[in-house]
Amino acid sequence: HRIGVCTASGCLSCGSREVLKAIEQEAAARPEANLRIEGVGCMGLCSRGPLVMVQSGPVPAENSGAGAETAFLFKELTPADAPALVAYLEQQKSDPPTVAAGSTASSLAAKRCDLSAPFFRRQVKVVLEQFENIDPERIESYLAAGGYRALLDCLHHRRPVEIIDEITRSGLRGRGGGGYPVGLKWSTVAKAGAFVPQAGRSSRQSAGATAADRPDGPRKYVICNADEGDPGAFMDRSVLECAPHRVLEGMAIAAYAVGADFGYLYVRAEYPLAVERLRKAIVQAEKRGLLGRNIGGSAFNFQVEIRLGAGAFVCGEETALLASIEGRRGQPRPRPPYPAEHGLWGCPTLINNVETLANVAAIINRGADWFAALGTEKSKGTKVFALAGKIKNTGLIEVPMGISIHEIVHEMGSGEVGGIKAVQTGGPSGGCIPAEHFHLPVDYESLQAEGSIMGSGGMIIMDEGAAMVDVARFFMEFCVEESCGKCAPCRVGTTQVLLLLEKIGRGEGTAADLGQLEELCHLLQQTSLCGLGQSAANPVLSTLRFFRREYEQLLVDNT
Ligand code: SF4
Repeated sequence: HRIGVCTASGCLSCGSREVLKAIEQEAAARPEANLRIEGVGCMGLCSRGPLVMVQSGPVPAENSGAGAETAFLFKELTPADAPALVAYLEQQKSDPPTVAAGSTASSLAAKRCDLSAPFFRRQVKVVLEQFENIDPERIESYLAAGGYRALLDCLHHRRPVEIIDEITRSGLRGRGGGGYPVGLKWSTVAKAGAFVPQAGRSSRQSAGATAADRPDGPRKYVICNADEGDPGAFMDRSVLECAPHRVLEGMAIAAYAVGADFGYLYVRAEYPLAVERLRKAIVQAEKRGLLGRNIGGSAFNFQVEIRLGAGAFVCGEETALLASIEGRRGQPRPRPPYPAEHGLWGCPTLINNVETLANVAAIINRGADWFAALGTEKSKGTKVFALAGKIKNTGLIEVPMGISIHEIVHEMGSGEVGGIKAVQTGGPSGGCIPAEHFHLPVDYESLQAEGSIMGSGGMIIMDEGAAMVDVARFFMEFCVEESCGKCAPCRVGTTQVLLLLEKIGRGEGTAADLGQLEELCHLLQQTSLCGLGQSAANPVLSTLRFFRREYEQLLVDNT
């Protein structure tokens, strides 16, 4: 038997480290049980942690599609459950426990999850694949699961142009929210000529700049955007915490494909566990010759460094992120020029987010056709969502694009039909979709047509108790706080919109205020410099579109 205890932030915060220790101690006292125990990655049902997976049979190879012969998932385990768990496994070879009511193991049996439930059954895992088998802190564990095979295959058997073609044919689109075709972005950077980094005042004086930032010759960069900041979103955090090598492997393949030799992982400092594991992973990969010079015995060099974001939401915007890495204030600049041609220190720079890069190795291993067969015509593959709010099963899921919101909320999330009012997708840039529209397929185009966006994958489910004017106010407060202040429409406009929302919320607004609110929202969309301001009005406009009555009922001159 193998016992995997979740060591991602969610389960750690409710005591999984203590559970792991207790199981290890118990197993040490019973060597005849022949147990292999390790800390592993997130198993999705984050609200019911600590989660423990027990598997029997050989560990399946990555992307083999195979599962262990038998697998049981236990939820809400405590250190006190360890003796019953180990005793049970000692007795059993592979069958599930048959426990008499009132026996010492009866509480354990009650904590067993039904893996045939829609929450587990409906998932298709590409990015989250094998999280339950991989110890995030050991490269050996990732290698045993087939890790870095795709990178070595690329370096020894494929030309960069063939890799870009594979990614293009897969139909992978950027998972950070924009949905830009990944192959096209890679191809633009590959075609751009490498430049010597500009010796700008800011880069030379940057506290973060290292000798490696300033090479003698021309250079291109690959950046992993891990500045996840949407309220309610924790997909990227989990991927970084649970499979840091998968992201590094994706970065290295991307770098080889576009001709880059240096990369940055731009991670929020508020993710200390992710940062710690990434640091470990980089050292481990360098020691194994999978990062650094002459990777895998080839002529390809790729070095990766971590840069910490200081908590500014706007630094998730590409040009602000570049400024931040260069040691300047994290503010966006007008585009074009786009980072693909004129990025970090003026060099062509490929920027992809965590989930995008975590798809790459699987596409190389299984092929573009396999990936393109998942999802819909225009939105291929899967999407990871962080489910939060008024449903029973909150946590992390990965589903094929095209699945309906109803299936996610009511079947997988076990939300009560009739009690759910709306789902908010896309964070402060997204919108609220009412329950009547839950038949909609989840893909880039369908969500946009409803005035929301896919965003990076946060999904907040709201019940009938949610006041939609308050919901809009919450997200606008966030945007006011996070506006960098560079352009007037956003700096002044978001504050004015918030003041109007507060006035209406207090029951002091008039019909004229409501009209002005709408006018300002459109102005924000049309005149703001970057995506933050351009999309800040989306939560207001979508709640106005679907829940206008709630605004009108609060007006003093409501007739
Ligand atoms: Fe800054 Fe907002 Fe203007 Fe973007 S839209 S540049 S966040 S002030």
